[in-house]
Amino acid sequence: MEEFKMLFKNKTTILSKCKLFISSFKPVIFVALVLVTSAIRSQETLNKSVSPASVGVWLKGDLHVHSRHSTESSNNSISKIINFSKSVKMDYVCITDHDNHVHGDVEHHTWSDPEFKSDSLLLLYGAEWTTTRGHGNVFSDKPYNHQKLFDVRDQRDVNIGKVKKLLSIHLSANHPSGKDNFGFSYDLVQSIEVWNSAFWPKNANAIMIWDDMLSSGRMMTGRGGSDAHHGVPNGSEKPTSNTYQAEYNYVGTPTTWVFAKERSLKAVVDALTQAKVSVSSNPFAPRVEFYADANGDGKFEMMMGDNIKSNGKPVKFRVQLNGNLLPDADYTITVIKNGGKFDTYNLRGSTPMIEFEDTPNPQGRTYYRVTVEGTNTPYPQVPKSMALSEKMVALSNPIYFNFNPDF
Ligand SMILES: [Zn+2]
Ligand SMILES: [Zn+2]
Repeated sequence: MEEFKMLFKNKTTILSKCKLFISSFKPVIFVALVLVTSAIRSQETLNKSVSPASVGVWLKGDLHVHSRHSTESSNNSISKIINFSKSVKMDYVCITDHDNHVHGDVEHHTWSDPEFKSDSLLLLYGAEWTTTRGHGNVFSDKPYNHQKLFDVRDQRDVNIGKVKKLLSIHLSANHPSGKDNFGFSYDLVQSIEVWNSAFWPKNANAIMIWDDMLSSGRMMTGRGGSDAHHGVPNGSEKPTSNTYQAEYNYVGTPTTWVFAKERSLKAVVDALTQAKVSVSSNPFAPRVEFYADANGDGKFEMMMGDNIKSNGKPVKFRVQLNGNLLPDADYTITVIKNGGKFDTYNLRGSTPMIEFEDTPNPQGRTYYRVTVEGTNTPYPQVPKSMALSEKMVALSNPIYFNFNPDF
């Protein structure tokens, strides 16, 4: 929250930049709005697209949202978050209120709010673990004893690890660089927030930390989270000095896609842990999928999050964009191998796929991940977010060779 305020210290510059940006692209935005509408219509087909790797369903959501149970949020009731999420066709959301604002008793605040229910949106159980050594998010498919994790927040990592294991929860490092950065051992977490809020440029250090963790042999999921605190006032609600933020950053900026075995809370958390995950700048931006054919049979049996032993033979990789693509748009695909740039490829909206080949080291560890840059898809519900996301469209999780999953 404080971090987000800092971002907007220079609000007037950003605002005028955005205005300039938006006025020079008005016709483009109009065309894009029409395309967004058709994208919403085709959403169901998009979600059902079959992966060459295995059977499942792509589900999209936001893993970091604050409701009125975080004391510094404004005009952001749980029902408002849920209704908004449904209106932009989100499949799941995790409301992650600051646990210290309720002394750890998330169970009798966020989760017992009468508005905490939905017949169509999957609502994960979680909270932002808010400690003097930084912030982390918990994701769970069922209620758990969050109080226990809150109570050990100032203890040694080894004790925290024991409690985490006892509770069977997924713990994730939040905004790993900058203010309130995650200051515990990364052995405690399964994932890391590599894309926090719509404002892409500030995530550069988070990406560097992620690459360092991967290079050290950890298999760690990269995920997004809007960290949105402020909603648009409605009815009798009054605007606050932070209300303007809702136009720049809200649910879905960014959007985290998970390839889940089925539409269930458990499958979402499992996919998150297994890194069957990619992140897009907003719910209407293209989704990146990353596959590999390691045995040369023409079938791309590996996908993001998978790990196999390298046999010293060349592997074919496939990068595919799905969703709301502009046919004439150009996207730049950058392949990262072991933390460094491997190569870049140009991809056209009309044929949204590229393939490349490389031989992973048969002795040491190798990982590959991809980023997608290009023209961002408008998000009319959060109209000023695309200017903050700049050229960043999407990123994938890694495909691993020779990693020890028990690192
Ligand atoms: Zn935080
Ligand atoms: Zn937060």
